[in-house]
Amino acid sequence: MRRPAFFLFLALPLAAAEPDWPAIEKHSLDLLQRYIRIQSINPPADTKAAAELFRAELVAAGLEPAITDAVPGQNQMRLLVRLPGRDRSKKPLLLLNHFDVVPVDAKAWRVDPFGGLVKDGFIWGRGAMDMKSAGIMHLMTLVTLKRLGIVPARDILMLCTPDEETGGVQGIRKMIREQWSDIDSEYVLDEGGFGSRDVFSPGKLVFGISVGEKQVSWLRLRAKGTAAHGSQPIAENANDILLAAIGKAIDAPERGKPSPVVAAMREALRGQLADNKFIRAIQRNTISLTTLNSGVGNPPKVNVIPSSAEATLDCRLLPGVSAEEFVSEMRARINDPRVTVERITDPADPGVSRYDTPLFEALRKAILKYHPQAIVTPILIPYGTDSVWLRKQGVTAYGIAPMAIDAATVATMHSDEERVPVGEFFTGLKIFFELLKSDF
Ligand SMILES: [Zn+2]
Repeated sequence: MRRPAFFLFLALPLAAAEPDWPAIEKHSLDLLQRYIRIQSINPPADTKAAAELFRAELVAAGLEPAITDAVPGQNQMRLLVRLPGRDRSKKPLLLLNHFDVVPVDAKAWRVDPFGGLVKDGFIWGRGAMDMKSAGIMHLMTLVTLKRLGIVPARDILMLCTPDEETGGVQGIRKMIREQWSDIDSEYVLDEGGFGSRDVFSPGKLVFGISVGEKQVSWLRLRAKGTAAHGSQPIAENANDILLAAIGKAIDAPERGKPSPVVAAMREALRGQLADNKFIRAIQRNTISLTTLNSGVGNPPKVNVIPSSAEATLDCRLLPGVSAEEFVSEMRARINDPRVTVERITDPADPGVSRYDTPLFEALRKAILKYHPQAIVTPILIPYGTDSVWLRKQGVTAYGIAPMAIDAATVATMHSDEERVPVGEFFTGLKIFFELLKSDF
């Protein structure tokens, strides 16, 4: 029977609690490759094979995961496991990751998106960054602690959900509705933040731990006009009405106070914030015109003026901004009875998590052990994560994938070149281990 070296080593009685990192790295990379090869695309979020991969590792280490089909019969599996800690009076720390990945445009990929290929120092594939690498870090940290007989400061839970990429309805939101008492935690560590030498501040290695995120406010604009022949222009052209409305809608004045989190970032980085789309987006409310839909017939006729036209706006609001006021101000700017503005989402605004906590400090120390020159700072993130639902429940939520990645690599998330540097994946494993064996 062939067994990886990792298991041989860990089967030995252990006195010193220092892991055999070369063996763990080798095994973790192999696991990540196998995980990427599982096509847990959402939809349909069939995550049965992913749950099975995790279950086998946990059971082999003596842990007892529970797997539940979030949508009976559809294999949308979630997995929950607990490693008991020393102080059972404290609420647990929850490690949260998601099994699902976004779809791929296979023709656009230069490598097999589900090959788990290691090339040029990177591991490539859908989910490498979002968020299978962090999932393996969570899994392997639990397994390593358990195998070494290290009892953490408090209970550690790991929850893997089947649905994050389509809004978490069958994932974290269902878990909170159905099994809140099983995951009621003081802290959660989720995706969101990361380390980088260029994203946050030019030329500085900065680890940004996300403590809050912007509100997701999606809007649909609909213009009504009069249908007519394209040969004779009319004022009641729905397309013209829509274009004028969009122009006024996106011309939003600056609103809302600057976030104290951005002020803390500025202080930590001595004022030297990078100038890029990420940093710009966390300092103000933003509006992106994302879809336009118009025309009569399929393909749409060039000589027909349509009676209606539609657009969607992806608006992201700073914490503390009222989504309702934001929309009423937009309606007032448009000021046209022929145009309706409909809210597609009802954003939650649980505010930001405090960052003067023992966990934040422990995280800083664990990062600095492996990156002594780094600056560790709380950040806001411009995109949404599952943490928003946990903050609503009163949980202190931090987002971090403890890998240093440059802006070009960060940009491969959800793209046809998604990848993470293998070396950073290995260091991330060690940072998680250092953190979870410390006091927090
Ligand atoms: Zn994700």
